[in-house]
Amino acid sequence: MLDRAITLPEIEFWLRTTSDAMLWELFEAADATRRAAAGHAVYLHGLVEISNYCVRQCHYCGLRAPNLNLPRYRMDGEQILAAARTARRLRYASVVLQAGEDYGIERDWLAHVVRLIRQRVRVGVTLSLGERPERDLVAWRRAGADTYVLKFETSDRELYDRIHPKLAGANTERMAMLSLLREIGFRVGSGVMVGIPGQTFASLARDIALFRDLQLDFIGVSPFIPAPGTPLAAGADEAPNGAQVPADELTTHKALALARLVRPEALIPASTALAAVNPRRGRFLALTRGANLMLPNLTPPDLRPLYAPYPGRPCTPETPNECRLRLSKQIRQMGRVVGRRAPDRRGHQSAASTAPTD
Ligand code: SF4
Repeated sequence: MLDRAITLPEIEFWLRTTSDAMLWELFEAADATRRAAAGHAVYLHGLVEISNYCVRQCHYCGLRAPNLNLPRYRMDGEQILAAARTARRLRYASVVLQAGEDYGIERDWLAHVVRLIRQRVRVGVTLSLGERPERDLVAWRRAGADTYVLKFETSDRELYDRIHPKLAGANTERMAMLSLLREIGFRVGSGVMVGIPGQTFASLARDIALFRDLQLDFIGVSPFIPAPGTPLAAGADEAPNGAQVPADELTTHKALALARLVRPEALIPASTALAAVNPRRGRFLALTRGANLMLPNLTPPDLRPLYAPYPGRPCTPETPNECRLRLSKQIRQMGRVVGRRAPDRRGHQSAASTAPTD
């Protein structure tokens, strides 16, 4: 059943299954698919949370604009370059510059920073900065950013609109933006939350089939975790008659494994949110169920507690060097290797960079 293109009803079937034997089959298939299409490498991309400002009001997120209790920050160019140099020194394949939707991040300023990272530090650049105008995206692609991640969260339009209030004056549509990102020349990343109140198994199955239709290069799958004090923290109506997707680790792993089956070559992170639901093993279990990317945090330690879209994010006192050593050891213990560079669209590293870093 899992050795050919999986159909939409089958995706829903696997999302609903609770049989241990069936789940073992699903996770084995995802791991074998990852091995065959994307190899043994676990890629490490340094995460740099460059700003916690956001103009949006997503009903579950701790960074939402109405959260006036949160001290806001925006890193300067030198801080970002220093983080990129650390990524290079630790031989991470890329840096991921992430922020809320912050128009204080100006087009030309960020293009300059990206150009410096590419030309002087020589490390890949992924951006995850929300919905931005086409001219900003074009400038950043021209400056050398190679991947842009914009999660669509759910393809159920009514559900999406219920928890993502529109921004006055903005007329953006995430699916159209994903096509635009591809046209501009980015590798395109997107993804979903698992267990949004009102999300049905059928709806999540459609999301996963969309990963294939959109030919995503990077797929983020995270459990839904509302931040305290947000409208959804107090709960919301769930889908009736057993159709509600649980926001738990197992269901997230099922969705992640299915993402691997529909996009064998993609980069799929073992997300930080999985560590929030299972601090000890969440991310490493994900690496055995289809994931092949980790995002060690290179944000300056004093700023990390302020980047809190959801509670329970791991915040260890480790230095970047200690974190790198620990991850390398854990990855080796799994019989995997640390990948040197982001793979190409077929899941392979370039010929000049096939050697593992350790
Ligand atoms: S989910 Fe993203 S866009 Fe929405 S409030 Fe949070 S940071 Fe802003």
